[in-house]
Amino acid sequence: MTRRAIYPGSFDPMTQGHLDIIERSAKLFDEVIVAVLVNLDKQPMFTVEERVEMIRQVARWPNVRVGTFAGLLVDYAIEQQAQVIVRGIRAISDYEYELQMALMNRRLQPGVETVFLMAAEAYSYLSSRLIKEVFKLGGSINGLVPEWVEQRMQEKVKG
Ligand code: ADP
Repeated sequence: MTRRAIYPGSFDPMTQGHLDIIERSAKLFDEVIVAVLVNLDKQPMFTVEERVEMIRQVARWPNVRVGTFAGLLVDYAIEQQAQVIVRGIRAISDYEYELQMALMNRRLQPGVETVFLMAAEAYSYLSSRLIKEVFKLGGSINGLVPEWVEQRMQEKVKG
């Protein structure tokens, strides 16, 4: 049986913390689908298409692919025949929300298991929100997001 995992998120934009979780997941599972959430409520920095492209350019492992989903994550997992949802945990503050989601998802779909990976120490304070905030105020984010992502962010502010 192919062990297939889904790593869902907003990825607006993808950070080194996300990339680390993708790399480690790719070692644990036969296939990893990085799934960008299509969320119409938020005011994102990048469109879903731009985020998908960024992840494709950077997460170049042969068993990793990128997709998008709207609606219930567990429905997407079943559709993709994935048995596992991967989430990253940075701090205690992530835990409460992630536990709620994992338990709700289990109730909705007991066949899909949520697996948590602890954030890499070096990136455990990183969030897309903080990256955007520092970047917009002119601070350096070098080394905190992939080169490719940093370039796209610079183009955004210039354009
Ligand atoms: P969401 O809106 O679903 O939280 P994010 O793109 O912010 O989407 O995060 C996707 C997943 O990656 C979440 O499980 C989050 O906890 C995890 N994550 C975010 N930043 C990091 C990081 N620096 N290190 C490890 N995991 C992270």
